[in-house]
Amino acid sequence: MNMKICAQCKMEKPVSEFYRYKNRGKYFYYFSNCKKCESERRKVYNPAYRLIHPWANTLNHILYRCKRGYAKNYLNTKDLKSLWFRDRAFEMKNPSIDRKNTYGDYTLENCRYIELTENMKRDRKRKETWALEYKECKNCGTVKIPHNAKGLCMSCYVKKWRVSRAL
Ligand SMILES: [Zn+2]
Ligand SMILES: [Zn+2]
Repeated sequence: MNMKICAQCKMEKPVSEFYRYKNRGKYFYYFSNCKKCESERRKVYNPAYRLIHPWANTLNHILYRCKRGYAKNYLNTKDLKSLWFRDRAFEMKNPSIDRKNTYGDYTLENCRYIELTENMKRDRKRKETWALEYKECKNCGTVKIPHNAKGLCMSCYVKKWRVSRAL
């Protein structure tokens, strides 16, 4: 069976799980997202749908951030709906999704809805301390060089990245 890896959920699925573009007669090619991810994406991009399902806005925001490489997303609209009601986001002025561990992925355990103002406060704190989850660089212990990602300063991160690219 022909298999293909979905660009969104990164799961390997049979090609029958992917929509096809019809392209002149017998020629066609497959979508890069599987059917499940593609229908999710279509729903989320539909403004009318987002109006009735406000948590779909969140997914839109998450997908955007993940596309830029900030984290991986493991949430779908159903998960966000459950968080929405668990955290009573409907009572908030400006509900926004927060990752408890800023460097963690978008998972059910790591995510919660909080007020946007609260989220922004956390952002400010992130800027004041060297990094929210790290006191100093895990590798060299500096606080002078700015934090890059995953507890590493700019220079350590670049070094690590170069090494792993070379392997
Ligand atoms: Zn998928
Ligand atoms: Zn360092």
